Amino acid sequence: MNNADVTVQQIRIGKPLVIAVDGPSGSGKSSVSKAVAQRLGLAFLDTGAMYRSVAWHCLNAQISLDDAGAVEAAARTIKMEQSMVPETEFFKVNGINVTDAIREPKISSSVSAVATNLGARAALVRRQQDLIAEHGHRIVVEGRDITTVVAPHAEARLILTASEEARLRRRGLQLGGTQTVAQLEEQVLARDAKDSTVVDFQRAADGVYTVDSSDLDFEETIQAVITVVRQAVNAGPAA
Ligand code: C5P
Repeated sequence: MNNADVTVQQIRIGKPLVIAVDGPSGSGKSSVSKAVAQRLGLAFLDTGAMYRSVAWHCLNAQISLDDAGAVEAAARTIKMEQSMVPETEFFKVNGINVTDAIREPKISSSVSAVATNLGARAALVRRQQDLIAEHGHRIVVEGRDITTVVAPHAEARLILTASEEARLRRRGLQLGGTQTVAQLEEQVLARDAKDSTVVDFQRAADGVYTVDSSDLDFEETIQAVITVVRQAVNAGPAA
């Protein structure tokens, strides 16, 4: 452990520390957010997995993703369970383990239909805010609208970004080289373009820090995020 970690671990012990992280696909926000949560002893919430779980449920139950009312109802009513500690990963929908299934390209290609359904978004935002409260407001939350909608009063808010080239390369490696360039572009760039129609996760809102990881390795990115968290906490709440 280096000095930067020690300093951050000593801040806000026993007090709320919500770290809101937004960013595009392939920016590394999931693995980096998880590592930051682990080092700071915080819970971890992957909100993208909730959108993916709703998409998985609709496909599995043969609910048309074009049926806005049915998709919204699913987002409101399905039972979702997920690991909230960064050390383990599991997701269940109505008791079925979907940990691997929600990462499949089929889900990545259809999840924007859930993300652009405003009723479904409202239901998922409410669920996410409840989970943050249940974990005593000591949590890293990552997604697309966390800094602006889900936790606009978080103690630290940041956008984690990277160049298109870096994001395509990382997602390709994550999927074990199984995808063509065109498939990766569909899953990363086209998905971001669709998602951008309802949430702006590419530009930092007022008081939101930006970390560009294009030229940073994993450890350097973690340290850059922890530095920003320290700055944000020291700066205190926005006026
Ligand atoms: O982060 P991940 O790639 O797993 O997110 C899957 C999808 O969920 C995104 O493409 C986006 O459509 C949606 N999403 C969202 N708002 C969030 C998190 C994810 O719209 N806070």
